[in-house]
Amino acid sequence: MIKYQLLCDSEHEFEGWFRDSADFDAQSGDGLLECPICGSGEVRKAVMAPAVAKRGSVSPSARKSAFLREMAEAAGRARQYVEKNFDYVGDKFPEEARKIHYGETDPRGIYGEATGREVKDLVEEGVSVAPLPGATPKGANSKDDKAGAPRPASSVGERSADKRAATKTPAGKKLN
Ligand SMILES: [Zn+2]
Repeated sequence: MIKYQLLCDSEHEFEGWFRDSADFDAQSGDGLLECPICGSGEVRKAVMAPAVAKRGSVSPSARKSAFLREMAEAAGRARQYVEKNFDYVGDKFPEEARKIHYGETDPRGIYGEATGREVKDLVEEGVSVAPLPGATPKGANSKDDKAGAPRPASSVGERSADKRAATKTPAGKKLN
């Protein structure tokens, strides 16, 4: 997973998670990206400073592991933020995400569970969904654990049908 800082043509800044840079290009090319603040479809990547240690101070492999550790920590923080600030809607996620998207209910951050198919449908409708990072690995989600803790996990445009969740992109919220 990769996180991009994104900008719309009105310079609104927001974040998006993608499987890889090709996933960003595909979604961008298909016009699936939109600014959560003004709804503009003119979305581009903001320039980001890479989070690496000072040049020459550590070996490349140490730098890489530090980078991976930071990524894991950032993912954990993002997940905590979502779980603390967003409404968990369980398997009503696709329904609730649509209501928000079509303005039938107040805009808010939600998270919950959805199948790969449901996520794909949402993405095709232009609903902003994003995977919740730091989620339970594939295989740990059985169909019988719905009563347990929320386990959002998936990626946008996921093709396989056995991953079960997605999260609503925080509209205009920043992870800090
Ligand atoms: Zn905007």
